[in-house]
Amino acid sequence: MEHFETKLTVIGTGMTGMAATLFAANRGIDTVLVGSTSEIMFASGFIDLLGVHPIHERKSWKNPWQGIAEVRRDIPNHPYARMDETDIRTAFDQALSFLKDAGLPYLRRNEQNCRAVTSLGTLKSTYCIPHTMWAGVEALEEKSPCLLVDFRGLKGFSARQIAAVLQHEWPNLRTVRISFPEMEHMEEVYTEALARNLSMEHNRVKLAEVIRPHVKGSVYVGLPAILGISSSYEVACDISDKIGAKVFEIPTMPPSVPGLRLKEAFEEQFPLRGVRPFFQKQVLNVHNGPGGEFKLDIGGDTTEFGVKTDGIIMASGRFLGGGLRADRHQIRETIFGLPVTQPSDRRLWHRRSFLDSRGHPVNRCGLEIDDEFRPLDKSGHPAYPNLFAAGSVLAHQDWMRMKCGSGLAIATAYKAVKAYSQMNERPVGP
Ligand SMILES: Cc1cc2nc3c(=O)[nH]c(=O)nc-3n(C[C@H](O)[C@H](O)[C@H](O)COP(=O)(O)OP(=O)(O)OC[C@H]3O[C@@H](n4cnc5c(N)ncnc54)[C@H](O)[C@@H]3O)c2cc1C
Repeated sequence: MEHFETKLTVIGTGMTGMAATLFAANRGIDTVLVGSTSEIMFASGFIDLLGVHPIHERKSWKNPWQGIAEVRRDIPNHPYARMDETDIRTAFDQALSFLKDAGLPYLRRNEQNCRAVTSLGTLKSTYCIPHTMWAGVEALEEKSPCLLVDFRGLKGFSARQIAAVLQHEWPNLRTVRISFPEMEHMEEVYTEALARNLSMEHNRVKLAEVIRPHVKGSVYVGLPAILGISSSYEVACDISDKIGAKVFEIPTMPPSVPGLRLKEAFEEQFPLRGVRPFFQKQVLNVHNGPGGEFKLDIGGDTTEFGVKTDGIIMASGRFLGGGLRADRHQIRETIFGLPVTQPSDRRLWHRRSFLDSRGHPVNRCGLEIDDEFRPLDKSGHPAYPNLFAAGSVLAHQDWMRMKCGSGLAIATAYKAVKAYSQMNERPVGP
C-alpha cells in the first residue's frame, strides 16, 4: 500500500470540494483531493448565488447581494451569515478567473441576477452563466427573432415545448427538429456524444449546413447544451459564424454537458497546480493521531492508499453525494459520525404537502459549525481543531429552494480554506 503525507486533504469532488481545492492551491497549500461521483454532473452549468428568500414568500432577488443581506438578518445560522460579503466576492472572482483560464469562461452582471431559459421553457434567475449561454440572456431581453433547434432522438429536450411555455414572454420564437448529421439512423442520441462530435470542425460544418436553411431572418439560434466539451466557447463562436446567427446553449436534463465541462476543467487543471487527486476513490476510515494529525484509508472497496494529513476540509455533500445518510430513525454523518442537526422525529422531516411553500425541514439538516467553519461535537465545541466543513453538508440552508447551490459551495469552500490557512499557514494569497 502506498503512503502519502500532505498538509490538507479535501474530501469531496463536487462543486464544494473542487472549489476548496482550487482556493487551497491558490494559497500554495500542499493538498490531496479525494472523492467520487458528485452532483456536479447533474448541474445545469449555471452558478447561482442567491435567488429566493424567504422561501415561503417565494421572494426573488434581482440583486443577490441585497438578498444575502436579508438572509444574514433573518437566518443568523445560515452559512452565508457566517462570512463577510468581501470573502464571497473574492471567492467568486477566483473561481471565475480559474474557469476562464481553463477555457470555460462565465459571464455575470456583478450586482444582478440574469434570467435564462431552461430545458422546460421556464425562466431561471441565476448569477453566473457560461459564455456559451449568454447570447440567450440577451436574446430574451431583446425579444429578438430566434430559432430553437432540437434533435430527433434527444430525450428531454423539446424546442416546441420551450417555445410553447414562453409564447407570451417571447413571441418571436420559431422551432425546428432536425436529425443530427450522420446519426440519422439512431433511435436515441446523447448529449455527451453530440458534444464530443462537435469538438471536431468538420462535424460543425455538417451541422451548420443542416441548420442554415432554417435560420430565415432569426438573429439568434438556441441549441441544447452540446457545443463541445473542453473548448465550448470556441465551438459556439465557430457555429455562429458558419450559420450566420448568434448561437446560444440551453441546459438539458441531467446528466449535463455543462456539468461535465466543469468536472473536466477541474480534473485537468489540478495536477498542473500541484494537487494530488484521488478521483473515484473514497475515504474508508479516519484515525486521529496524538498530535492532532489524521490518517486516512483511501480506496474503492478496500484500502489502496494511506494519507497522513494535518487538516481536512469535509465537502462530502448530502444524501446524493453520500456525506449524509438517513436510516429509519435518524440522519447520520458518514465519515466522522458527527452530530447532525435534524428534526427530533422522522415524522417531522417532511411536511404533509410535497409543494409546501416553506420547504421541508429535512432539507435544512446538516452540520453545525463555529465561526471558523469547524464542525461541532455534541458538546458544542469543534470536534477536531483542524477539521473544517463546507458546502451542502452544512445545516440551516435549503440551497435548492433558495437557489444558491453552487454559490454556497464556492463561498463556504473559500471560507473554510481561509480559516484553515489562518490557523496553519503563513498566508501567501488573499
Ligand atoms: C440536478 C441538480 C441541478 C443543479 N443545478 C444547479 C444550478 O442550476 N445552479 C447551481 O448553482 N447549483 C446547482 N446544483 C447544485 C450544485 O451543483 C451542487 O450540487 C451543490 O452545491 C452541492 O455540492 P457539494 O459539493 O456540496 O456536494 P456533492 O456534489 O454532493 O459532492 C459531495 C462529494 O463528496 C464525496 N464524498 C462523500 N463521502 C465521501 C467519502 N467517504 N470519501 C470521499 N468522498 C466522499 C462524494 O463522492 C462527492 O464527490 C444542482 C444540483 C443538482 C443535483
